[in-house]
Amino acid sequence: MAKLRVAIHKLTSCSGCQLAILNQGAQLLDLLEDIDIVHFIEGGLYEPDASVDLALIEGSVTTPEDLQRLQHARSNSKLLVSIGACATSGGVQALRNMQDERAWKQAIYAKPEFIDTLANSTPIKAHAKVDFELWGCPITIEQLNNLIRQLRFGTLPIDNKEKLCMECKRRQQVCVMVTRQAPCLGPVTRTACGALCPAFGRACYGCFGPSEQPNGKSLGKRFAGLGLMPAQIAQRFASIHSQSPDFNEQYHHWQALDPKLSEEDKQ
Ligand code: SF4
Ligand code: SF4
Repeated sequence: MAKLRVAIHKLTSCSGCQLAILNQGAQLLDLLEDIDIVHFIEGGLYEPDASVDLALIEGSVTTPEDLQRLQHARSNSKLLVSIGACATSGGVQALRNMQDERAWKQAIYAKPEFIDTLANSTPIKAHAKVDFELWGCPITIEQLNNLIRQLRFGTLPIDNKEKLCMECKRRQQVCVMVTRQAPCLGPVTRTACGALCPAFGRACYGCFGPSEQPNGKSLGKRFAGLGLMPAQIAQRFASIHSQSPDFNEQYHHWQALDPKLSEEDKQ
């Protein structure tokens, strides 16, 4: 079976998903039995024009250059997979989509006119055909291995959108929402991390993105019952995957209920 030729591209991101790949250590050597990585700047390989079987794209489209590089990568690859929160839903940098971008630039940068960004930070699928998505911040190696293995058999992996709570149950983890009144996003977050945060007694903050059929409306009400104010509930839905439609809807719903907002702000 021929190895897959793979390019790993980075757009606007923290490079965490690329590091998750590099941090595999010995497992990376096993993965290289199945793939030839031809472009991976973080790993010291630079061939941005190479034609490949698979392009893995990390990062969101935030600058005009991101858009050009994405289009180039798409035209050079048979399959394109977005990896990580930035690529799948815009990531943390997409929080600016919900604020006055000009005001932030003025407040943060001494020379805001030097900042050349698009109006919004957007996921890959907003600009190019995406064949599959690996959600997570960062992705796990198991997700990547699974993808590569399935592609070598000529198919795509099953997109596991099961809720994190199911993982807690399988691992016999004590629920932090029931026992500690912690505002856990597990009931609306897709599983992939092994319920890492609840295993350490902490609430999930949703870094693997929305699960199948997420009932954010009910969960938000539960958070209110735990004593969170509307703005705090809005923030929980707007941390990492603020631009996924399900979490974005809950953000706006609870933000509009914040009594501190003026009528003008709410419009
Ligand atoms: S700790 Fe969170 S993820 Fe686990 S069962 Fe409770 S609500 Fe669900
Ligand atoms: S428990 Fe939630 S926040 Fe923690 S790693 Fe898993 S998905 Fe991310």
